[in-house]
Amino acid sequence: TKWVYTFGDGKAEGAAEMRNLLGGKGANLAEMSNLGLPVPPGFTISTEVCTWYYAHGKTYPAELKGQVEAALAHIAALTGRTFGDPANPQLVSVRSGARASMPGMMDTVLNLGLNDGTVDAVAEASGDARFAYDSYRRFIQMYSNVVLDFPHHHFEEVLDAFKEEKGYTLDTDLSAADWKVIVGKYKDLVLHELGAPFPQDPHDQLWGAIGAVFSSWMNQRAIVYRRLHAIPESWGTAVNVQAMVFGNMGDTSATGVAFTRNPSTGENALYGEFLINAQGEDVVAGIRTPQNITETARIAAGSNKPSMETALPEVFTEFQRIAGVLEGHYRDMQDLEFTVERGKLWMLQTRSGKRTAKAALRIAVEMAHDGVITKEEAIARVDPAALDQLLHPMLDPKADKAVIGSGLPASPGAASGEMVFSADEAELAKTQGRKVILVRIETSPEDIHGMHAAEGILTTRGGMTSHAAVVARGMGKPCVCGAGTIRVDYANGTITSGGVTLRKGDILTIDGGTGQVIAGAVPMLQPELSGEFGTLMGWADAVRKLKVRANAETPLDARTAKSFGAEGIGLSRTEHMFFDAGRIKSVREMILADDEAGRRTALAKLLPFQRQDFVELFEIMDGLPVTIRLLDPPLHEFLPHTEAEIAEVAEALGVSPQKLAARKKEFDEFNPMLGFRGCRLAIAFPEIAEMQARAIFEAAVAAEKSTGKPVVPEVMVPLITGKREFDLVKEVIDATAKKVEEETGARLTYQVGTMIELPRAALKADEIAETAEFFSYGTNDLTQTTYGISRDDAGTFLGPYVSKGIMEVDPFVSIDVEGVGELVKIATERGRKTRPNIKLGICGEHGGDPASVAFCHEVGLDYVSCSPFRVPIARLAAAQAAL
Ligand code: ADP
Ligand code: MG
Ligand code: MG
Repeated sequence: TKWVYTFGDGKAEGAAEMRNLLGGKGANLAEMSNLGLPVPPGFTISTEVCTWYYAHGKTYPAELKGQVEAALAHIAALTGRTFGDPANPQLVSVRSGARASMPGMMDTVLNLGLNDGTVDAVAEASGDARFAYDSYRRFIQMYSNVVLDFPHHHFEEVLDAFKEEKGYTLDTDLSAADWKVIVGKYKDLVLHELGAPFPQDPHDQLWGAIGAVFSSWMNQRAIVYRRLHAIPESWGTAVNVQAMVFGNMGDTSATGVAFTRNPSTGENALYGEFLINAQGEDVVAGIRTPQNITETARIAAGSNKPSMETALPEVFTEFQRIAGVLEGHYRDMQDLEFTVERGKLWMLQTRSGKRTAKAALRIAVEMAHDGVITKEEAIARVDPAALDQLLHPMLDPKADKAVIGSGLPASPGAASGEMVFSADEAELAKTQGRKVILVRIETSPEDIHGMHAAEGILTTRGGMTSHAAVVARGMGKPCVCGAGTIRVDYANGTITSGGVTLRKGDILTIDGGTGQVIAGAVPMLQPELSGEFGTLMGWADAVRKLKVRANAETPLDARTAKSFGAEGIGLSRTEHMFFDAGRIKSVREMILADDEAGRRTALAKLLPFQRQDFVELFEIMDGLPVTIRLLDPPLHEFLPHTEAEIAEVAEALGVSPQKLAARKKEFDEFNPMLGFRGCRLAIAFPEIAEMQARAIFEAAVAAEKSTGKPVVPEVMVPLITGKREFDLVKEVIDATAKKVEEETGARLTYQVGTMIELPRAALKADEIAETAEFFSYGTNDLTQTTYGISRDDAGTFLGPYVSKGIMEVDPFVSIDVEGVGELVKIATERGRKTRPNIKLGICGEHGGDPASVAFCHEVGLDYVSCSPFRVPIARLAAAQAAL
């Protein structure tokens, strides 16, 4: 079996399509070699070895050793240096690389192959002893940390103490002799702390690192990440072993990372950072502040450090050319890693770059305009869920702002919240419903849960490609990073900048679009959507089959929904209108009245309010369809609680407070979710449905007059279990319509339909469709009743259900296709059989979830209805489903 694939010198045994076998990094290193780009030679140990390793008690296939030897010889043939040769040693890096990029895997080990002997050979060959010993100490530190599990900071403490003793401030102050002393101290430290000397045999080092990569596939961080991202364990990771090139060989050497387009804005210009005389992840680690790649970016950033364009002009030109080749080849924005060794550029990685939603839109639309990709590809390239970011508020530019510092605008959007200094605090605050800004000197993968919980993230160290910046952009969280003038004091829980000190818990605002850091809260504005947004949405609208409506009842929600492109209202919950100050008293009178007459008196007071609500909704929607659901929740939700409230209602009804309190008790329920609610209210008290129907029809007549457009209300009966319930309520509605027609002389056009939100209703859909003109799947209740899980109580046990793999995702977030989805399918089939033109939609939370929207498309529903801010998400998701 072939386990090892070589690359280098314009050829490779692998290619980009072999991602499953070679991992993302390995496949793209092979592809770049095949394209003739300068890639240091190396080889990839395939993901199949990882699978074999775990299937065979953590051992390797017998042929592997020989194949690795042969591949090392391949490197030697190309570089003229041999791995492990004391006189002329080749150093290598060992890099993990799964199919999907996966934080939590082993970190890269650089400079592998150095030992007490080879370090001097490297010093001699390079003519630079300082470089050799700097590399060696980096290697000891990295290998110990990554392979031997010995924490970084021990080494940093040794180095800091040494620098202090010598009066040095920068690493560059250390001479070759100094680094040699440090190397000695590092080795002593390892021996002392681990009880064994630092491994000297390069082959032991290599197999140690390879073993560490494969072991890291099953470490806790990797397992959690896979679970969160639905990556199967069976995929395994590959290992890449590659000849080292050195960015730390003086002033014509450098290392950097870049995007072929700006990952924040999408602007079509190289965007990145590099450091002269540095190695590996120095750029990302934020130890020194990196320099810009292009002159334009340098000027925009107001940096006084030279850009690569001026510092290394020939390298820059070559890099620009290669960036163009790679972007054109992959037909997508690329994220590049490179190193310059004594003026020679080497490419170390390429992959599709992570980007903000704003950048994703702009890049997709511009690439489609330029004919690089099709419109369909452009639609498919934007993650619908990420559109949320674009709809985030921004700071009001006219507002007063106490700016206390600034950093890099790492991820757009503005956020305010209490300052916290640790990920755990952020998470805790979130569970308590508090909004926080996570403030860190820098972040690491251990902070992800806190970044999730926070409204925004502020760091004081690191560039646009630092961990905080990359992760925040991915999450769509506002982030300001590298705010160097701000001093963070974890111990005292304060930040200080420009003479201002803020404490933990103080409100802080960050603007991820400008990089500003502001004390206190700032008024925010709704975002304006870019031209690309409209363009892509237009393309999406042209291909999607599903219509998109919104769940809205207030005028504000309805206007927002319409501005986001809603094609009607799929769910207007009338009870939301019952809580308003002017009405709740009448609602209570209605509920607590002893008899129909009493209820009718109270309902008469409510009628004008409801009618006005509907007039406004119809006018805003201006001829678009509006579905109005009759009263649904258990009545006790409206009941008076305080003594004063009880007294008030008692007086209005002319009864004693004691009597009223007793009457109120009658509404107590053991399980209100399955209690006296939905159409059961209209069955018991038809006068409620009658008042609501009257309000709807009278409003329709009025709105038709004011807008001059036909209004076709869709009246929806909730929580039915079968046809008989539906028919009883429909009779009331039809009779009321007739009366309104007689009274006003107008002709009404309307539909009466029902929610399908109980399993029985789904099963009886054929009968129900005989009289119901539309179905709207209420997937929130349908999920509760199909699973027998109360949505409000699920929080305590659903977590383990998801983490133990019983459920892939929370079924209240993304529809359970197999169970709840099956009921939707059954009801759709049976409903259509009876009434082929029945209108079918969904109005649960799922209407704004891309995976659920795809399901609705599959099943062939007519529309989805979701909350106003999710309308663009649903439009794009519907288009992607239709591609
Ligand atoms: P990650 O997946 O975390 O990005 P990489 O394997 O890409 O890890 O390695 C991180 C960095 O290490 C690279 O960006 C590059 O700067 C450096 N590096 C890796 N291999 C080599 C090499 N062969 N020569 C020089 N630098 C290397
Ligand atoms: Mg890394
Ligand atoms: Mg990398």
